Amino acid sequence: MNAPFRFWWVAMAWMLAANLGISAAELRPLRALLVCGGCCHDYPIQKDVLKRGIESRARITVDTVQQGGTSKESQIPLYENPDWAKGYDVVIHDECFGAVADTNWISRILAPHRAGLPGVNLHCAVHSYRAAPGELWQEYLGLRSMKHGKATPIQIRTVDKQHPIIRGLGWRDWLTGNEELYNNVKVFPSATVLQRGAQGEDDCAITWVNRFGSTRVFSTSLGHFNETVSDDRYLDLVTRGVLWACDRLDDNHLKSITPIPPVRSTSPVTPAVKP
Ligand SMILES: [Zn+2]
Repeated sequence: MNAPFRFWWVAMAWMLAANLGISAAELRPLRALLVCGGCCHDYPIQKDVLKRGIESRARITVDTVQQGGTSKESQIPLYENPDWAKGYDVVIHDECFGAVADTNWISRILAPHRAGLPGVNLHCAVHSYRAAPGELWQEYLGLRSMKHGKATPIQIRTVDKQHPIIRGLGWRDWLTGNEELYNNVKVFPSATVLQRGAQGEDDCAITWVNRFGSTRVFSTSLGHFNETVSDDRYLDLVTRGVLWACDRLDDNHLKSITPIPPVRSTSPVTPAVKP
């Protein structure tokens, strides 16, 4: 873009924003940090699927960090920096570190969220840090889960049709392919369940939002296999959850273009050990 045209574009954007009453902060794309790594999941594929899926659906730039190898005990270098989330509007936790039990470490991860940074938690992020004493991570999530069932299809049904995340979502019920249903040991009073999943005799909250102090937190325990993560229904749900967490679930941030078809993998991941 040459300089005069760039100036014209910026001027037009500001005039449009002024006319619509939109602030500069609302105009710029959101910045998300996607954290993944650890046990049992195909993160090299899934992090790219999520980045592409979210960026094609919303005005969000997603940076990805994958650390910790395939161990569920890793305390990743990212969190060693107290300013690990600086500059981001939202963090998408997609890590799988269920055996990390150091409460000081968990407090370090939670510090920016406690200070108001929106959080999104996908699948094994719900099982991460569950070996720790107390309920530090679970208070942030709004739910405690400790185990999951066998990998078979889950029948998802919507229980809160009026929530903004659900209202604009293009689906209500979904029989997934093989997936892991995370159990519910406790649902905190601060949480609102949006969707439940049934698998055999088990019926559990599968998607919910939480208020962690004044911080918005969106979580879904769905998303073990690449086939699920690549599904348009999953990417639509996650994208709306990210925007809701940022309080930016609006037409200024949702893209109206048809999303780019997601990356599809033909190799499902079978967990070697229980995540
Ligand atoms: Zn899993």
